[in-house]
Amino acid sequence: MEQEPNRVFSGIQPTADSIHLGNYHGAVQGMMALQETHACIYAVVDYHAITAPFDPALMPHRVLNIAVDYLAAGLDPERTILMVQSDVPEHVELAWLLGAQMPVPKFEQLPTYKDKRARYGSASFGLLAYAILMAADILIYKATTVPVGKDQLPHIEFTREVARCFNNAFGQTFPEPQAFQTAGTVVPSLQGPGAMAKSVPGSYITLTDPPEVIRQRLARAYTDPARMRRTDPGEPTRCNIYTIHQLYTPSKQLEEIAGGCRSASIGCLECKRILAHEIIVHLSPIQERHRALLADLDYVRYVLADGAHRARPLAQATLAEVKEKMGLTRSRTSEVHQA
Ligand code: SF4
Repeated sequence: MEQEPNRVFSGIQPTADSIHLGNYHGAVQGMMALQETHACIYAVVDYHAITAPFDPALMPHRVLNIAVDYLAAGLDPERTILMVQSDVPEHVELAWLLGAQMPVPKFEQLPTYKDKRARYGSASFGLLAYAILMAADILIYKATTVPVGKDQLPHIEFTREVARCFNNAFGQTFPEPQAFQTAGTVVPSLQGPGAMAKSVPGSYITLTDPPEVIRQRLARAYTDPARMRRTDPGEPTRCNIYTIHQLYTPSKQLEEIAGGCRSASIGCLECKRILAHEIIVHLSPIQERHRALLADLDYVRYVLADGAHRARPLAQATLAEVKEKMGLTRSRTSEVHQA
């Protein structure tokens, strides 16, 4: 029997014009590292983006922009498949087949569903079914590894449960995927406790924010509340800015900042100015590639069309196997009955 390749799947929703540093460190850096050792499929998951209020006029632009983010962050389209979810409709068909086997309370217990239902005041069927579509996105490629942020871990556990449920009912079909997390899994918010989130304005910096915006956002950012005045000593381990420094700033300078914060020999404005500089330097080559790609969107459209072309046969093969196991094919058995 032919060995399945060690496959990776992950997706980003086109709910904003660009991904933020939380997405970048929490998932995208991991995705790029995995290209070296795995067969990867990365998607712009537009069908997920319609489960919350959205503007149809902005959607095509946002889909392209997220694809540009992936490419600017280092996705190599020669070896990695980059696709748009709605270009491979087999994802939705598999979601139906898998979802039909799962009890409704399993969906209702997922924290993301509960949070979004509370935020929007009601829940669409799409919001409830979000987790099964995500499971189908992963399982349709029999992915074994899924780079995700910490907030998505319950969905990976749910996907494992869906795989087990199907395998038990219809025979071994799907591997149980593992989450893959990178060092900077949670990038803290600029606004207070919690992580950077698209849903919280001012809490994040995006990959494409220009230097002046990065400086402004950091200048207004939340720090250790003990530092009311410039002369008050602080504690870096209580400060979101210091946590973000750990992702960008060389270790020697990091030690100086920690000591300066504790002795109040460095002020928060100076500390944030150093961080802004480090982030701007880090993002500069990504932003340069981003600008070049935006100037050649025909190339980006070609990459997405090619990605869908390469992904679809893989998705169709899994779907055919699933339908066969569920008795949903007009195979030789039905011909015998008609004879
Ligand atoms: Fe945070 Fe830096 Fe201010 Fe210390 S000096 S509280 S680490 S921003």
